Amino acid sequence: MSAPPIRKIVIVGGGTAGWMAAAALSKVLGAMPGLAITLIESEAIGTVGVGEATIPQIVHFNKLLGINEAEFMRETHATYKLGIEFVDWTHLGHSYVHPFGQYGIDMLGIEFHHFWLKGLALGDATALDAYSIGAMAGKAGRFYWPETGNPNSPLSRLAYAFQFDAGRYARFLRRRAEEAGVTRVEGRVTQVEQHPESGFVTRVALENGTQVDGELFIDCSGFRSLLLGQTLGVPFLDWSKWLPCDRAVAIPCTKRETGAEDQPLTRSTARKAGWQWRIPLQHRVGNGHVYASAFMCEDEATETLLAHLDGTPLASPNHIRFTGGHRTRVWDKNVVALGLAGGFLEPLESTAIHLVQSGIARLLAYFPSTAFTPVEIDRFNAETAQDYLDIRDFLVLHYKATARDDSEFWNYCRTLEPPDGLKAKLEMFRSSGRIVREHNELFTETSWLSVMACQGIVAGDHHPAAALLPDDEVLRRLSHVRGVIASAVSQMPTQDQFLASIGGAI
Ligand code: FAD
Repeated sequence: MSAPPIRKIVIVGGGTAGWMAAAALSKVLGAMPGLAITLIESEAIGTVGVGEATIPQIVHFNKLLGINEAEFMRETHATYKLGIEFVDWTHLGHSYVHPFGQYGIDMLGIEFHHFWLKGLALGDATALDAYSIGAMAGKAGRFYWPETGNPNSPLSRLAYAFQFDAGRYARFLRRRAEEAGVTRVEGRVTQVEQHPESGFVTRVALENGTQVDGELFIDCSGFRSLLLGQTLGVPFLDWSKWLPCDRAVAIPCTKRETGAEDQPLTRSTARKAGWQWRIPLQHRVGNGHVYASAFMCEDEATETLLAHLDGTPLASPNHIRFTGGHRTRVWDKNVVALGLAGGFLEPLESTAIHLVQSGIARLLAYFPSTAFTPVEIDRFNAETAQDYLDIRDFLVLHYKATARDDSEFWNYCRTLEPPDGLKAKLEMFRSSGRIVREHNELFTETSWLSVMACQGIVAGDHHPAAALLPDDEVLRRLSHVRGVIASAVSQMPTQDQFLASIGGAI
């Protein structure tokens, strides 16, 4: 006989993670009779207050919730993002775009970059950016939706994400979740009760005396990790050795007054002991400096940010501490952690909100009955751990693949022995120019190629099929692709024009 279904879900925390979970669960499970979803949050504690850039998967999340994109853009003051511009990472004075979407055009099943590599060997040194419609449109300040149904269009190789005000996004989702029946409880959780034998969490008690019972608890309490870390004592796997950045200072600013339009790109500029983000929204610009406290003190980090601010500060500096890594079991007993409560890898590739999204999708796939079958929980944890590992290796690549030797921090990163997965990818690319995407990992061949090739990892060879194509034909095709992309970009509207045309401008 099957175990009774879960009837009471309690979400602790109302940041981006909590409200994403509430909105998605109420959308997917809300119609089930007898299911109650409660979200507890404390305005006094507040949220982490950063987290504005995303990756293309969020477009699907919004679609799942039935969100109208124009309304979303207006309400969250969002802009589009076609990739990340990395400045000074390879060496001082260098920049490139890690674009979403794909490079080039379809080359009969052989990855485009092998033809680019052959072109390089023949002396055509055109940078990869010229072969990406996302990179070129981003740099030109232009935007249009991808044409996914038309493989002949260069726009079919485009993908996009958003940059938004995370506080507004949480409120936007809250409205939808409450409309779908989620009950919000305001207050600070001060006590957690557990079953005396199983250790399962049974109830949380708030400062004001309110008690909330549950069968499944979703810990979205941020870095506090109130249920998973503090109550159940699940240890944290510390990856600071690989990811030494452990502090951030953030300052939102006004938009520049020149009237210049923003590019639909996040910018990451490498600094002496870390890097600085610039995230343009419709109403303001997010600026922040992520740094390694072992190599730079808080005062110097703040001065560095203030010296490179884009716009006039709208608030005083927000200082944040974190450790790269994750809880060894993101699901333990009847507690599943989403967001910062489960782990955090620094924001270089804007993956945290995506990990919330993938955690929700996985929770729905393995949604438990009251039996809480261990084999399913183990599977959930193994898959989540693999996600973190894959992303970690991709992040480490950015620090490892550099010629910078102008500070202790960069010397540490450049000479660090890479983790095994990254080492294998580097060896493969160095020997044959091939990129192997393991087990459907988050970052695609485009991403790995972009960072490896643009940050100075040299491919020793290219695919034999590219070698078979006559040299002048390869050069002709490369020139053709550049022309097609440049022409398509020139016909796209600017981001501001596009936002106005869909009714997404504030
Ligand atoms: P929080 O926002 O901290 O929310 C925690 C919630 O729990 C709050 O509502 C709080 O009130 C509640 N709470 C805590 N304790 C209690 C209690 N005892 N009782 C009741 N309620 C409680 N992600 C991206 O995807 N893109 C980015 O560009 C990005 N940039 C980042 C930059 C930095 C410097 C940092 C640190 C993170 C960044 N992130 C980014 C991550 C992103 O901010 C978070 O993943 C996301 O906001 C989710 O946070 P959260 O909801 O888990 O935690």
